[in-house]
Amino acid sequence: MKARQIMHPADAKALQVLKQARGFNTLIKYFMQVGDERIMRGENLGTMLRVSPDNLPKVYTAFREVVNCVGIDEPELYIYNDPVMNAYTYGDTRIFVALSSSLVERLTLPELQSVMAHECGHILCRHTLYKTVLHIIEDMGKAAQVITGSFAFPAYCALQYWNRMSEYSADRCAAAVVGEQVFQSALLKLTSGLSDIQGDPYQLVEQGKRYYEMKNASFFARVQQACREMFYSHPQDCQRAYEIDRWKSSANYRNLTKDLSPDPNCTNRPPELTPSKRESPTQD
Ligand SMILES: [Zn+2]
Repeated sequence: MKARQIMHPADAKALQVLKQARGFNTLIKYFMQVGDERIMRGENLGTMLRVSPDNLPKVYTAFREVVNCVGIDEPELYIYNDPVMNAYTYGDTRIFVALSSSLVERLTLPELQSVMAHECGHILCRHTLYKTVLHIIEDMGKAAQVITGSFAFPAYCALQYWNRMSEYSADRCAAAVVGEQVFQSALLKLTSGLSDIQGDPYQLVEQGKRYYEMKNASFFARVQQACREMFYSHPQDCQRAYEIDRWKSSANYRNLTKDLSPDPNCTNRPPELTPSKRESPTQD
């Protein structure tokens, strides 16, 4: 899989701009290697459970399948104790993925692979380095009290916008690896916190449609919702569901699922689940 096949256009555009700040990026990369990466590895080994062929082998095998499908070097995988379903990845040279215990308990294996593939998507697109760069800029701006100042505010909003777009790219990676329907069911569980979801697996897509109808009903409604969203680092779940439902009709999704299907290392996706026969509201 290539990053360009899953990157949301707005994510790709912003990354091009960020890549131009080469000197600053190299500096951050160095600090990540000698500082954060080592500190976090110590913390992971010290406080989390490392997943390996001998320890939680089913979870490890599922992870290996995802890593093979995405085509990245295998990151270390950890599980941490948390009732909130969440996952994250960090590192540039020594990369790891961490999953909360509640994810492992409440998601089926294919749904868990959806979350794993989302994190691997961030790794494939090199989001970690640039997100770290942005967080440092953000922290420096906050410390200097310029983020909330009028001249820096548009830049801050632009960074948050890129953050949200990068999540869409990672979601595309998840949908391509596990199939869009499994992605939707995993997202339903993440949104609700429930381990068992009955009914329409596309409920969040429907909510997304209602949300955009409401938002686009008037200029005032658009401004109202945009003001609410602008500080979010992630898109709202109904927007994520809606976006993947749109993207599943794209040539990129079709080609990726076709390319990944015959891969003997990528046997996790139930063939009956992809591609979905549902109608998509719009083309990407
Ligand atoms: Zn993410």
